[in-house]
Amino acid sequence: MRVLLVEDDEPVAESLRRGLLRYGFEVEWVTTGQAALSVSVPPDLVLLDLGLPDTDGLDVCRALRARGDVPIIVISARSDETDRVVGLEVGADDYVSKPFGVREVIARIRAVMRRVQPKQQALQGPDRYGPLLTLDRKAARVRLAGAEVALSPKEYDLLAFLTEEPGALMSREQIMEAVWDANWFGPTKTLDVHVAALRRKLAGAVLIEAVRGVGFRLVVQEQPE
Ligand code: CA
Repeated sequence: MRVLLVEDDEPVAESLRRGLLRYGFEVEWVTTGQAALSVSVPPDLVLLDLGLPDTDGLDVCRALRARGDVPIIVISARSDETDRVVGLEVGADDYVSKPFGVREVIARIRAVMRRVQPKQQALQGPDRYGPLLTLDRKAARVRLAGAEVALSPKEYDLLAFLTEEPGALMSREQIMEAVWDANWFGPTKTLDVHVAALRRKLAGAVLIEAVRGVGFRLVVQEQPE
């Protein structure tokens, strides 16, 4: 996933850029509103600082929104409630105040993408993973060879998260933050229990590979066994 980072403060931008790369995002970094509006490759999401040297970030937000529905997360040094409200009014999807941690930003990105993707996919019908598995993100329904699979809400959330990027290695921390709680800190036994349930219920359609000491990777089985 490609993130456009619009931030003129170099230390802030650099640590955010490194953090995003570590989590597997592609990052294009620009320092002005002008540059943000003239990138050649459209991003999947924009992280937009409001205090820019050339233009008001809110104007950039408005202009981006007028062009299309790219998800926008506004970042601001001011913890002012007005900024937050105005940001959301001019079309931002979410808001983070400085100072923030990279993990907080990642959690916001995941949350925004989860909210946005069902809208984009509504017209396309369910997502297909190999010959057997379909996931209807709008209706939160999973089918295996046409038959609906009964999943608990957290099992569904975990599957929805792991299928966002099949083949990508997700750390236990990333999964816990995205599926359980953005402020999660502690043991991850519950994750193993849910992974085991998904493996059992989706046997033959997907593999959920454990990577020791790191996390999990969902692999679609193109040739069912
Ligand atoms: Ca700034």
